[in-house]
Amino acid sequence: MESTAKKPNGAYMLVNITEGLVKDKVRELMASQDMCRCEKCYCDACAIALNALKPCYVTTEKGSLLSLLSAQHVGTQTELTVCVLQALLKVKSSPRH
Ligand SMILES: [Zn+2]
Repeated sequence: MESTAKKPNGAYMLVNITEGLVKDKVRELMASQDMCRCEKCYCDACAIALNALKPCYVTTEKGSLLSLLSAQHVGTQTELTVCVLQALLKVKSSPRH
């Protein structure tokens, strides 16, 4: 997410909060599953979970912290966990490689 290119003031970017939360959750739950943990399976699981979940886009000022926004999103944590787990089980049962 870090960019070395200097942008003028007022640079904004579009962020899907759900994406960051899903990626974190996939990493977290993958560790507790007896499954392949390669980058391919990780990305597959992220893709499946992200397609199942509603995106949550926000406009944010470049470089600003997203932790507060993520915290506001905490209401969907249960749904998120369920979707990520289902995605992991799907990848686990049929790794695409
Ligand atoms: Zn794999």
